[in-house]
Amino acid sequence: MLDTTIRHDWTRAEVAALFDLPFNELLHRAHQVHRALHDPNAVQVSTLLSIKTGGCPEDCAYCPQAARYDTGVAAQKLMEIDEVMERARAAKAAGASRFCMGAAWRGPKDRDIPKVAAIVSAVKSLGLETCATLGMLGDGHAQALKDAGLDYYNHNIDTAPEFYGEIIHTREYQDRLGTLEQVRDAGLKTCCGGIVGMGETRDQRAGLLQALANLPAHPQSVPINQLVPVPGTPLANADRLDPFEFVRAIAVARLLMPASVIRLSAGRQQMDDAVQALCFFAGAGSIFYGEKLLTTGNPDVAADRALFRRLNLHPMEVVEHAGTVHADIMQTDDAVAGQAGCGQGCGCSTAA
Ligand code: SF4
Repeated sequence: MLDTTIRHDWTRAEVAALFDLPFNELLHRAHQVHRALHDPNAVQVSTLLSIKTGGCPEDCAYCPQAARYDTGVAAQKLMEIDEVMERARAAKAAGASRFCMGAAWRGPKDRDIPKVAAIVSAVKSLGLETCATLGMLGDGHAQALKDAGLDYYNHNIDTAPEFYGEIIHTREYQDRLGTLEQVRDAGLKTCCGGIVGMGETRDQRAGLLQALANLPAHPQSVPINQLVPVPGTPLANADRLDPFEFVRAIAVARLLMPASVIRLSAGRQQMDDAVQALCFFAGAGSIFYGEKLLTTGNPDVAADRALFRRLNLHPMEVVEHAGTVHADIMQTDDAVAGQAGCGQGCGCSTAA
């Protein structure tokens, strides 16, 4: 029976039982929920730019931006507003409807907030949705960003609570929850997900999705990342997750958070087109578009356009007060050529 009830009381056993369903049964259930609440042929398209790359003091085991790992990512300072605007205009011209900006900080300092707020306001003035991922927020930061025109704040919980200590030692799970609370309290939309394929068990994958679904409000956007192992990081040699297990994670996320937009995030470059198609069927309704995520690769623009055509997918429109943004990635080659990719060889694999 089709059930689209929004719940926040999922037990681990219930979530684990969904993971254990026969694959076709799980996908059937997930797709039913997906098409009941979402256009199954529409995909929201975001572009991600690293506005402050590398040199991060945190120790996230998957991240090439952590200063302590020798990954070849050089630390840079916060980009100038003109440079960000140039990238945002190009992303819009290439068809993105949301512009996500990532900074490799433990969290912004008070003095960083006015600079980021000015960038957010400028990008917003282009008619793009705005998202930022800056790390842990201090008092008043979320509200200042909201006042500047920020739509979404990304802050991932990364993995199951009991596996978190295996991956990150420089902050606590509770720190993440505290920032998410600030984001909700400021009236920002929440983008919050995690990473699979870091050596966790299936039960721990269930724990990640259970924790997301049992937040006080479901994140509007739920990025599900597949680890991209980066040489020099502690997870450089992590075993590759079975692609069908990744599809299961998308489907279970769809069932647990029926109204949220599930984003197929980092790791797409490592997936073949058939796996991506299964993810869209299972409930993924958003992608990053552009040649780079933060430092790791993303399928190139031409490949995404071809995939959309082959699957008859169309980009989701975003209605903003400034007008309707037509996230049309099916543009002429000239328009797409001007996009010049997202980011500049920077950033972590999983920021959003
Ligand atoms: S994921 Fe974010 S907080 Fe963690 S090391 Fe990378 S940039 Fe820093």
